[in-house]
Amino acid sequence: MSSLQPVRGTHDLLPDEARRHRLVEETAFAVARRYGYGEIATPIFEFTEVFARTLGETSDVVTKEMYTFQDRSGDSITLRPEGTAGVARAFISGGLAQALPLKLFYRGPMFRHERPQKGRLRQFHQVGVELLGVDSPLADVEVVAMAWRILSALGLGGAVQLEINTLGDAESRAAYRDTLVAYLSRFAADLSEDSRARLERNPLRVLDSKDEGDKRIVAEAPVMTGSLTPAAREFFAQVTGGLTALGVPFTVNPRLVRGLDYYCHTAFEFTTTALGSQGTVLAGGRYDGLIGQMGGPATPGIGWAAGVERLSMLVGEAPAAERPVAVIPMGDGLAGLKVADALRAAGVTVDMGFSGNMKKRLARANKLGARFAVILGEDEAARGAATLKDLDSGTQDEVPLAELAGRLLGRG
Ligand code: ATP
Ligand code: MG
Repeated sequence: MSSLQPVRGTHDLLPDEARRHRLVEETAFAVARRYGYGEIATPIFEFTEVFARTLGETSDVVTKEMYTFQDRSGDSITLRPEGTAGVARAFISGGLAQALPLKLFYRGPMFRHERPQKGRLRQFHQVGVELLGVDSPLADVEVVAMAWRILSALGLGGAVQLEINTLGDAESRAAYRDTLVAYLSRFAADLSEDSRARLERNPLRVLDSKDEGDKRIVAEAPVMTGSLTPAAREFFAQVTGGLTALGVPFTVNPRLVRGLDYYCHTAFEFTTTALGSQGTVLAGGRYDGLIGQMGGPATPGIGWAAGVERLSMLVGEAPAAERPVAVIPMGDGLAGLKVADALRAAGVTVDMGFSGNMKKRLARANKLGARFAVILGEDEAARGAATLKDLDSGTQDEVPLAELAGRLLGRG
């Protein structure tokens, strides 16, 4: 270990990369705002039970991936591995049940102790939404359609595929559980150790196993569709019908399951083939039981989360940084700083180097892609003016200092 390296699985967002992240986040939030979503920011750590109880004791996240530690008060604390449990906790502790339906957007870092690889980090970022208090399938339609609009707004409409499935209601799942256990028991000896344990405690989880041997067994397993109650079947028909009506392209994948315990009815994923095996960029589903199970008032919910790093890789080129105006003082540096300061106060983006001759400073201005240079020569200074040089056309003229900001902001 070298203490000067970032911790394995973490990374620095240098300015180019940070701009791409912001683009992803801002685009997501801008679209979500149009659907009436407001931002919520919950703490990046919670009491461990908030996650352990909700994500499922046998989920990968809880069994293997959580960053859990005891703090100085002796409390067991976990860095959040995902966003929904914290939002649900905030809903309960903030007494927000009076405010339903609630439409919430969040963004920020998440922490999972996984094996780092391309598109899989230990500190990564998500944007996500939660719609609380609506049990109609129209909510599922809107939440999935919004995800599609966000990906389209990022220019990724052609790069992603939407797969959707239903996990049914409690009755459907109980029936399916029996069917599944009967099937999997025949292969118990061939299942991975994890899956054998899950066969007893949470057999649906076996469907989401990443183990290659398990995957082969699961590929032949009976699917949920055959166990759905008429009500669950009808709910799903309304979801898929709604998506079709809105023109959102999707395929039904009866084998799609989600890694966390709290889902029911709709489950969905947007995937891409462009990122190798880390192909899921956005995933979510309905979680009607979650808030009640946490001890809050029974409240239906549906939401999704998207991986910002994965989306950012797909977005490609970072958006260009804003083109500054370069202030270039020929003599007195402080005089230059005064002009730069006044321009910035007026709303102009200004770069001014702290040293260097005219040539060096112009080279820096070009490197930054500056649009104009304000050259403060001594003769002009004596007249209370500066030379304003258009760096694209090469033309220049003398402008009184008092008029500079207006000119640069396009108002003079
Ligand atoms: P995967 O199957 O890739 O492990 P997951 O089912 O664990 O994903 P979710 O909990 O649904 O992922 O999280 C939603 C999204 O967050 C994922 O689709 C992915 O884009 C992103 N994500 C999840 N884990 C990581 C990670 N370790 N590094 C980077 N992005 C991640
Ligand atoms: Mg995972």
